[in-house]
Amino acid sequence: MDTASSADGRTRVVVVGAGFAGFTALRRLERLLARHSAHGDVELVLVTPQDFMLYTPLLPEVATGVLQPRHVAVSLRRALPRTTVVPGWATSVDVGARTVTVDPGDADGQVTRLGFEKLVLAPGSVTRQFDIPGVAEVAHGVKTVNEALFLRDHLLAQLDHADALPDTADGRAEREERLTVVAVGAGYTSTELVGQLQRWLHTISARWDRVRPTDVRWLLLDISRTVLPELGPRLGAAATAVLRRRGVDVRLGTTVTAATDRAVTLTDGTTVPTRTLIWGAGVVASPLMATLGTPTVRGRLVVDAALRVSGLDGVWAAGDAAAVPDLTRPDGAVTPPTAQHAQRQGVVLARNVVAALGLGRARRYAHHDLGLVADLGGRDAVANPVGIPLTGVPAKVVTRAYHLLSVPGAANRVRLVTDWALGALLAPQTVRLSGVRADDALIPAAQRTAIYGGVGSS
Ligand SMILES: Cc1cc2nc3c(=O)[nH]c(=O)nc-3n(C[C@H](O)[C@H](O)[C@H](O)COP(=O)(O)OP(=O)(O)OC[C@H]3O[C@@H](n4cnc5c(N)ncnc54)[C@H](O)[C@@H]3O)c2cc1C
Repeated sequence: MDTASSADGRTRVVVVGAGFAGFTALRRLERLLARHSAHGDVELVLVTPQDFMLYTPLLPEVATGVLQPRHVAVSLRRALPRTTVVPGWATSVDVGARTVTVDPGDADGQVTRLGFEKLVLAPGSVTRQFDIPGVAEVAHGVKTVNEALFLRDHLLAQLDHADALPDTADGRAEREERLTVVAVGAGYTSTELVGQLQRWLHTISARWDRVRPTDVRWLLLDISRTVLPELGPRLGAAATAVLRRRGVDVRLGTTVTAATDRAVTLTDGTTVPTRTLIWGAGVVASPLMATLGTPTVRGRLVVDAALRVSGLDGVWAAGDAAAVPDLTRPDGAVTPPTAQHAQRQGVVLARNVVAALGLGRARRYAHHDLGLVADLGGRDAVANPVGIPLTGVPAKVVTRAYHLLSVPGAANRVRLVTDWALGALLAPQTVRLSGVRADDALIPAAQRTAIYGGVGSS
């Protein structure tokens, strides 16, 4: 498969990554090519480590068990019937030879080279770790299903163990470690997660004999002075007030300088005993982008407004991994790394790839932000649909409606509504199946940052 065309002479379009941008692009490509009755001349190939598109914004609800993990995963085999799926990770791109190296991510599989005539790069981002001692060894991100499932089981295990500890000095010290959760990053990832996890544990902790809801100590840290900066100061303050009212220690201007499996050290010099460090301190573009050798901005591949990679013919990029000029702003900014932009960039990608195949005209990407939503658990949420600030139940309704409309696939939508309805009617489940090993849920393993040979992986 290392030639640019398929064995039967069809033009090969390779898409790397089946997230918001890649999945949407392929779905559109399938439709557009079918409409132009040119599908027979084009081979669509997708390189993807999973056989699903993950709706990441709902991962916090997977962590609390409100949603079943499969219900936030959209089947690629079902949604993309005309696409050939190559399972594995793209580890580098040779723009001269026009090939992508694919590691199957499977001990028995062989690394292969896949030729392309057109290439779409949409591998998204990875959790930004910085070079803080201990973070790679003990912290857990929230970008994959494994990470979300692990966190849930891990927190339940902490309650079980804490409940069984003897009332001795050692027992009390261990209890403090087990009942303290530290989350770093007050953007939507950690803030939503802390809000929802705190609410969930508060609801269920009466099920243990000696652990009380107030015994669990929550710290949400951020080196900046704002919570949810994506939603503006007013809603950030509203979210902070909700969390503080529930007893979460929101510490701004503070972060972690070192971590072990028993404690974290903070920038103010204090040490906090904990066995749970959640890392949501932003994202950085997939290290794959650094392998092309073309310009990047903070790791994101530079593209023009038509999503073409500078200086490369027939190569496009979008989503979190690309620095896409934001034509709706005069200040030369690039679009923020959000699902909202990635999904819409996928639509433009498809159109522009088809145009490069001689069908239709290319267009530039321009989208006015429709606002963001953040679910804080229970009836609490904040949202700014089309700039209107909402809190409480109205925000919660908007948040769920937004996700429901955004999840691709009717079957997934029905399953989500069913989960939400059951969650409203029944008491939360507390079984822990312990299906994910702790080592597999650490950031380098869960997000496979090591496969790029260290290129830009910090
Ligand atoms: C917990 C959480 C909550 C969020 N909430 C919101 C929200 O409310 N609103 C919002 O707009 N955004 C939200 N986001 C951000 C949003 O999820 C991302 O901006 C969006 O997923 C980016 O889309 P993408 O297509 O660029 O990447 P992704 O959707 O991440 O998809 C990238 C895909 O590429 C695959 N991949 C990675 N590397 C390779 C490789 N080397 N080879 C092949 N495939 C590869 C990945 O497995 C993945 O399937 C949230 C993110 C998280 C983690």
